[in-house]
Amino acid sequence: MTDLETFRRDTRSWLEANCPPEMREPVRDESDACWGGRNAVFKNGAQKRWMEVMAERGWTVPDWPSDYGGGGLSAAETKILRQEMARINARNPLYSFGISMLGPALLKYGTEQQKKRFLPEIARGEIRWCQGYSEPNAGSDLASLQTKCEEAYDKERGDHWLVKGQKVWTSYADKADWIFCLVRTDFKAPKHKGISFLLFDMASQGVSTKPILLISGTSPFCETFFDDVKVPKDQVVGEVNKGWDVAKYLLGHEREMISGMGLGGSGESLGAAFKDRLADDPLLRADIARFDVDAMAFRAMSERFIDELKAGQAHPAQPSMMKYAGTELNKARHELAMAAAGSGALEWESERSSGGKSAREWLRTKANSIEGGTSEIQLGIIAKHILQLPGA
Ligand SMILES: Cc1cc2nc3c(=O)[nH]c(=O)nc-3n(C[C@H](O)[C@H](O)[C@H](O)COP(=O)(O)OP(=O)(O)OC[C@H]3O[C@@H](n4cnc5c(N)ncnc54)[C@H](O)[C@@H]3O)c2cc1C
Repeated sequence: MTDLETFRRDTRSWLEANCPPEMREPVRDESDACWGGRNAVFKNGAQKRWMEVMAERGWTVPDWPSDYGGGGLSAAETKILRQEMARINARNPLYSFGISMLGPALLKYGTEQQKKRFLPEIARGEIRWCQGYSEPNAGSDLASLQTKCEEAYDKERGDHWLVKGQKVWTSYADKADWIFCLVRTDFKAPKHKGISFLLFDMASQGVSTKPILLISGTSPFCETFFDDVKVPKDQVVGEVNKGWDVAKYLLGHEREMISGMGLGGSGESLGAAFKDRLADDPLLRADIARFDVDAMAFRAMSERFIDELKAGQAHPAQPSMMKYAGTELNKARHELAMAAAGSGALEWESERSSGGKSAREWLRTKANSIEGGTSEIQLGIIAKHILQLPGA
């Protein structure tokens, strides 16, 4: 047996022994997923146990170095772990912006002290993070952000940063323990060159949040206010005024994460899910067949992209292609599912519709091509950096 075959055999038997049956079901909605954090609310004992046994082995972040709480697995071993988890429908044990966004940025730009301090906590699901990028006048044009961060001194803290400003659309800010935040440390420099990447505790004095209601009826994100928040000097990641490099690197990982929604969870084809409805509707049948072919192509592209990314061979603009394709696909999936399910799918509060589950999920997908940078912005990046179109 090769080393990888042995690894697969051992992984399979460990997963069989340790993944609770309740964690072999798809996640039903955002509240059914495990997000960890200081105030983590577990749906049941199985969810808590699953997160803890996976974190214990470093398998919440299998390819991070074991010195920082990861599993220290090679790219090939990580792929096998993912395949073996998929084989038994094992859930992701921990959903975390720390894992999918901040962690990779810390691994690349953090100091040794920052990596040792923050990465193991992220791997164990102890701290829940939110992302403070967008502001009321800085979304697509993110580098126009105005949240002010200046050096200050007082007797109690000595030298520190003082942060004043507002963020918007901060997902789960009201539930997060810490924030990774873009702030302006130089107002005179060209806009991309005066930005720093700062980490701070959401329990700090001067931080407040106000939830915003979405069209789907939930409030997953907030306006976030900073009123003279004092932050220790050593919580800047990367160099002061060079936070734009860290921000862009993190956005690549965010876009890769968001693109995963194109895979559509269980992997079942739409045609299979609605086969009873399709016999007498040739137009819908054709649309769904076209969609299923696109979904298969996306799955293949996604696998190739992840392999290239892990091997360090991905083009820096590739996450934009994945984000664009994956989110437009997910929107199309929900549009077609609504069309196939008929008018009953529009029910909003009835018991038989599980409180309007299909309609709410469909409406939520409308935000997919906005969050993490809009589809138009991704197309602009593809035009400029991949196609190198004149004038882009
Ligand atoms: C569900 C959700 C969760 C989010 N979570 C977070 C979060 O946790 N943290 C965070 O910081 N932000 C978050 N955001 C904010 C998100 O990043 C911004 O909404 C996004 O970048 C767009 O910015 P904007 O809303 O200001 O729109 P605008 O930038 O005002 O854009 C408005 C329209 O103009 C178009 N447009 C703008 N500029 C161009 C251009 N140059 N070329 C072509 N078209 C253009 C856009 O595509 C869009 O259609 C979230 C958003 C959503 C919907």
